[in-house]
Amino acid sequence: MEWQGERAAPLALVVDNDGLVRMVVREALELAGLEVCEAESGEQALALFATARPDIVLLDVMMPGLDGFATCAKLRESVDGSRVPILIMTWLDDAESIARAYEQGATDFIDKPLNPTILSHRVRYMLRGSFAVNALRKSEERMGLAQRIAQISNWEWRPDTNQFMASAELCRLMGIRPQDFAGTLDAFLDRVHADDRGRVEEALRSLLTKRVLCKVEHRVVLPAGVEVTVILQAEALSDGQQKELSVVGTAQDITDQKQSEREIHRLAYFDSLTGLLNRVSFKDRVTQALTQARRRHTILATLFLDLDRFKIVNDTLGHNIGDLLLQSVADRLAEFVRPSDSVCQAVGDEENHLLARLGGDEFTVLLTNLHDVQDAEKIARRIMVGLGQPFMIEGHEIVVTASVGIAVFPDDGDSVDALLKHADVAMYRAKEDGRNNVQLYSSRRTASVNERAKVEDALRYAIEREEFALYYQPQVDLRTNGIVGAEVLVRWQHPQRGLLSPAEFLPAAMDTGLIVMMDEWVLRAACRQNQAWQGRGLMPVRVAVNVSHSLIHGSSLLPVVEEVLRQTGLPPACLELELTESIAMRNMDASIARLTALRLLGVQLCIDDFGTGYSSLSYLQHLPISRVKIDRSFIREIVTQSTPAPIALAIIALARSLNLSVLAEGVEQEAQRKLLLMHGCDEAQGYFFGAPMPAEAFAMMLPVSALRQVG
Ligand code: C2E
Ligand code: MG
Ligand code: MG
Repeated sequence: MEWQGERAAPLALVVDNDGLVRMVVREALELAGLEVCEAESGEQALALFATARPDIVLLDVMMPGLDGFATCAKLRESVDGSRVPILIMTWLDDAESIARAYEQGATDFIDKPLNPTILSHRVRYMLRGSFAVNALRKSEERMGLAQRIAQISNWEWRPDTNQFMASAELCRLMGIRPQDFAGTLDAFLDRVHADDRGRVEEALRSLLTKRVLCKVEHRVVLPAGVEVTVILQAEALSDGQQKELSVVGTAQDITDQKQSEREIHRLAYFDSLTGLLNRVSFKDRVTQALTQARRRHTILATLFLDLDRFKIVNDTLGHNIGDLLLQSVADRLAEFVRPSDSVCQAVGDEENHLLARLGGDEFTVLLTNLHDVQDAEKIARRIMVGLGQPFMIEGHEIVVTASVGIAVFPDDGDSVDALLKHADVAMYRAKEDGRNNVQLYSSRRTASVNERAKVEDALRYAIEREEFALYYQPQVDLRTNGIVGAEVLVRWQHPQRGLLSPAEFLPAAMDTGLIVMMDEWVLRAACRQNQAWQGRGLMPVRVAVNVSHSLIHGSSLLPVVEEVLRQTGLPPACLELELTESIAMRNMDASIARLTALRLLGVQLCIDDFGTGYSSLSYLQHLPISRVKIDRSFIREIVTQSTPAPIALAIIALARSLNLSVLAEGVEQEAQRKLLLMHGCDEAQGYFFGAPMPAEAFAMMLPVSALRQVG
């Protein structure tokens, strides 16, 4: 027998006051693979049943005390007892006794005297039946539980009779008692939300006619008016002749799931304080609007609005009031952004304006389908006027002003990020202009063009009036500690702004092309200065002049250098030109030709900021250069990293193997100097030896030339 119980073998309880009968039964059952326990009275049987929980009970009828019928009836009263198969063993084969035995809940009966073979077959048969029933019951229980947990209910519809059987769970879902459900498809459809009813019916009919999968989401209206959302799925069961006999399906309550989906959506796309769109969804919508604007060739504008001095409200009245104020501001802004509002009438009828809060006191507005830029400005001004009306928050009258920046598509950018960034820039400009005003990004751009023009004029004047000053930074030989040269660094002695460093004016000079004139001026002045020092009997050194890309790749460098050297009489070896990797690498062939011509003059060439570009030293060796300057970022590492900076040291080693001299830039500490010297670096420059200084200060550092001293 296939036994699947928890015990090793099924357990039978044999109840008889006759010890001999019990022995016979035990023998037969044990032979059949069962375990046996015995009781000699009804009372004993009940007690033993409770503790041993047998899988089958064999019960004698005639016993002193509780007889078999009474014992059977008692057993059936408990939960376990109600399920156990009970076999009545009786001498009484009269019909009445048999009927009585069944009445008291007996599963079957067997006549005495017992035939052991028949007995064991009967018992095994009863056990098998009981297991099957138990398994079914358990699986049904599990299914019911699963349905309740998953909130899935099932139903069956018979199209021919229109009968609709709903499970208890479905009735619960519909909010009616099973006995009150009319049991027709119409009764079910009555419960479906009126707006969804057509779809549900259609889906069920399509299942029958077109055999399309039936899966519909719909709402069910409970008697109290509450709505729940349900997913209805169904399948058709057909007979062999392709005729649908019935439609069976499930209904799952997904109200909670929908609710959390909505909540997640709200959290992800909306600002929790004001309920407005948040940054993510605003950007999303702007992207969509941009696609449309591109297609329709319309203008759209993003407004960046920041409340003025909101922090003061927060700090003085507290965050609660601050939050309430933000909510009220959001509400008021929403009034102005609503499409039908008069504010927007100027902008056509297809507009779909949007409002969002990016965080803090920052709001953004998207205006679509504008006729021209002025529309955006007009709306912004009206918003400001509207905001200007005092807010009453918990008894406090609060007056709010805002600064608004506007960026317009397509003029000010054609991506969300560009538009938002530029609207933000314009907003800051509004703040700078004393707050409470509106600024267009494009007007700022005009201003910046003006500014550019101003800088250009000023630079031109500066060159004419020689407002540039040259600073010299010593370069020393690491082995001797003696000065071997100076890098020339330009400064602008601005009449109003004081001494400006290259970072403040070089970009403008490069943009305008004035850099070429400036570089030529620097070159001339530096050579003149160097020659003057030598003329004063100071020890000859080289001056290193930075040259820009424009100067190298323009046509004038070689003739200018020739001319300057001739005019000043400076030995060519006392002039070094510094160019960056990228300058040298661009247009390699032309570079080689030009630089070779310079080399032939006797001028020295070096690669500045080495290591920051993408060139390799071996490639650079094709250029006629004499020195590389290791960028100061690598020199800084030498002492900050626990292991000696591999890059700087590798550059030194490589440069030496290529017969190039190496100079370390930005040396600031003794430790750096020592390490560089130890690793064979030739020269160095940096604050440790001296910051860039005016010509006179540098001249003081130069020893008098031995030659002159002698002469
Ligand atoms: P650069 O050629 O790499 O010049 C070195 C820069 O590092 C200089 O900045 C210098 O003041 C700074 N410096 C020197 N020693 C140290 C140090 O120990 N630590 C640190 N942290 N910095 C140090 P500056 O004078 O501001 O020049 C910046 C850049 O401007 C130069 O970088 C060069 O590319 C460019 N430049 C300067 N003068 C001219 C010029 O006349 N013509 C051209 N085309 N470019 C120039
Ligand atoms: Mg330099
Ligand atoms: Mg440098």
